[in-house]
This record gives sequence, structure tokens and C-alpha cells, in this order.
Amino acid sequence: MENAVWTHDRWTTTIEGWVRRTLAGHSDRAIGVVPYWIETREIRVMWEEGILPSLAAMVAEEIRVFVSELGLGVEFEVILYGSGWEESDRRIGVSDYIRPATINGELDHRALFDLSYGETYRQERQHADVYITTRPFVDDRVSWGAAIFEHGCMMLTLWGKRQHSRQFIRSVVRHEMCHLLGMPIHCDDIGVEGWAHDTSCNMHYALPSSRLCGKCREYLGRWWLEIDRLCS
Ligand SMILES: [Zn+2]
Ligand SMILES: [Zn+2]
Repeated sequence: MENAVWTHDRWTTTIEGWVRRTLAGHSDRAIGVVPYWIETREIRVMWEEGILPSLAAMVAEEIRVFVSELGLGVEFEVILYGSGWEESDRRIGVSDYIRPATINGELDHRALFDLSYGETYRQERQHADVYITTRPFVDDRVSWGAAIFEHGCMMLTLWGKRQHSRQFIRSVVRHEMCHLLGMPIHCDDIGVEGWAHDTSCNMHYALPSSRLCGKCREYLGRWWLEIDRLCS
């Protein structure tokens, strides 16, 4: 399908062209950020104290199931990392770690993207991070998560009673995983010839379902096909 394009309000490009720019650190939204995590394809799931470990395990499992369902022909290692780790002679909790990315206890997702990308552990072994937090985003009580491919970072904001909504959380995980895996945009923003508009796709803002439409699946398939071609 030669005519698959990603349309955007400022430009139109092919998926393949956008992969090349992104891997070279020239993406529109993250200049100079190279997604090194795709070398190892390791995804570490971490959670703040206050998040039930069984919920974190469910999130990790949903990520595994979803990436295998996508059939990208790419293996990801999903690791249930923990709610903290030993550093020198003391224990660092995930809350301590993400505190520099908070304002009055609320999470600034862009700051956490940057913090995550620049962490020293990444030199030891490149990876992507998934943070499950008990905080809302700064001035935002609507969003449930955020994720970015370039930095290899995803977060879920499960404050208040949100941890009880397990079925919806699964849907959010799928949506944010699509962002982490390379969709910076939503279903409406992509045009792939041969696919009709699907209003119930999981990649709409309002998450009308947990089901990803054929167009978005094809987008992700072509994205990773091109990564494999360029990286092998
Ligand atoms: Zn879609
Ligand atoms: Zn989204």
C-alpha cells in the first residue's frame, strides 16, 4: 500500500519517512531524543506505594497480551519491576524518584518524560518505563495516562477510586501502549488508504472501546516493519 500516509495539520508524510526522522532524533515533538529503548525492547513496569501490586501485575499482563495480539513480529520483554529499588545503601521508592516531576503533588507528564529519558540506569541497560502513579496530572482530572515513543515512557494516573475500574484501566493500557509503540496521534489524525473511519476505535481520545481499528493496527505494523528494516 504505497499511499499510506500520516496526515497532520502541518504536514503529510509517509509512515516510513516519519520512522526515519524519529530514529534520527528529528521528530517534531522531541528534537534530539533518540528512542534507544527499541534496541532492547525492554519495558519496566513500576508503581507508587498505594497502588495494589495485583493491579500492577494486571497492567503488565495486559501489556504482554496486547503486544502479542498486535502481531508486530517484534518481541518485547515486560518486567514487573517493583515500587522501589536499592540504591547505594538506601531504598528509593518510585514516589521519591518521580517527585522532581511533580508540582504540588500533581504530575507534570512532560517533566517525567524528560526525567525518565535522562536517568542514569538507561546507560546500563536501555529500556522503556511504565509508571503507575496515585497522582493526577497537573490541572487535569480527565486524562488517565500519557505515553511517548521517543523517550520510552508511559504513565497511568490512578488517583482516588480509579484503581477499582479495572476493565477501563485495561482499555487505557491499550491506548497508551499504542502511543508508547509509536503513535503520537489519535485515530482521526491518521489516513491509511483502504480503511474507513471507525468511531469506536480505542485510539480516539474518549476511549470508546478496547478494540483497535484496522487502520491503527496497520499503522503500527508498518511502523515496526520499518524500524526492523532500518535497524537490522
Ligand atoms: Zn483507529
Ligand atoms: Zn491518546
